[in-house]
Amino acid sequence: MPEASEALIHLSGLTKEQLVELVGSWGEKPYRAKQLWAWLHVRLAPDVDAMTDLSLAFRDRLKSLCASLRPEIARHQQAADGTEKWLMTLADGQTIETVLIPEEGRGTLCISSQAGCSLNCPFCHTGTQGLARNLTTAEIVNQILLVRGELLRRQDEPQRVTNIVLMGMGEPLYNYQAVAQAVQIMLDGNGLAFGSRKITLSTAGVVPRLAQAGRELGVNLAISLHAARDELRDQLVPLNRKYNLAALKQALQSYPLKQGRRITWEYVLLDGVNDSDDDARQVARYLSDLPSKVNLIPFNPWPGALFAPSTPQRVERFQQLLHQSGYVTVIRDRRGADIEAACGQLTGLLQGSRARPVTGIAAA
Ligand code: SAH
Repeated sequence: MPEASEALIHLSGLTKEQLVELVGSWGEKPYRAKQLWAWLHVRLAPDVDAMTDLSLAFRDRLKSLCASLRPEIARHQQAADGTEKWLMTLADGQTIETVLIPEEGRGTLCISSQAGCSLNCPFCHTGTQGLARNLTTAEIVNQILLVRGELLRRQDEPQRVTNIVLMGMGEPLYNYQAVAQAVQIMLDGNGLAFGSRKITLSTAGVVPRLAQAGRELGVNLAISLHAARDELRDQLVPLNRKYNLAALKQALQSYPLKQGRRITWEYVLLDGVNDSDDDARQVARYLSDLPSKVNLIPFNPWPGALFAPSTPQRVERFQQLLHQSGYVTVIRDRRGADIEAACGQLTGLLQGSRARPVTGIAAA
């Protein structure tokens, strides 16, 4: 019954202030809202029944008015390197993926902002599937609550999730309102309590939203570059036809970067397509007046992809050229590749999505 489920309240999509208001409107004391907030975001209750210090009457009201607190876990996989992937089924049957990448002293959770994606970047598997729909704030936050909750359930440490990257499926700046509210919830010091330095939003460069995101969110910014000349970027990141490199640069020159922070540039290396010495020099020139660091991502192939990963020698040479130009340049390793959890491999298995023909530039 879609009508009924739409009317349900999605508690994890509410900010603390909204929760206080809601609980107040039911005639409950403000401390009830505080208790409920803690159950949701700190104690990570999987359902209302777990909230044992709330009165039965209050719990009954929550159960009758609110949507379930967790999406269904359709599948969970763990890679040899410890990377974990959860495939979650949403209330309407859409599926999304969330990946936890454990590293020395930290754990990065890669979350999705849309079911599918509208950008159609030809090297990205999600891009070939089209957009199913935007995620709601609750669906974005629930990915974090679910993973932290799962860690707690197996007596692991929920705080192992130290960093959030909006680098899963979707273009976060094309779902701005929901993403902005989700970020606000993640930042709440009495809740999930991520510092703004611990959250990174990755965008292909939705230029008209950048200034607003900088002003309102204050999180780290990652930009998917993949080419530093329009002719090639038009192909690899079709959004470039709308907002080209010059427009992107102009927006970034006035972007309110916080003290000491840099823009992270993502550059996926595609054999014979964007990995020549000239390409590296163009990147260095393009970034020259922006505080930048570069993440080189070896391409993660998927069945039917028209691209191949650059050779390790090419990747190293590319890094070397950027180093020589003074850029901090990191080669990202292919974490979780054996469970298709590596960057850009979130295949989604979207129900009802059409497999679009891939229109790419084949590697030479
Ligand atoms: N839409 C946003 C965020 C999602 S993609 C953006 O474009 O930034 C996150 C990163 O993964 C992007 O840099 C994207 O270009 C990269 N990516 C996608 N498919 C990939 C693949 N097969 N191999 C390596 N990186 C990939």
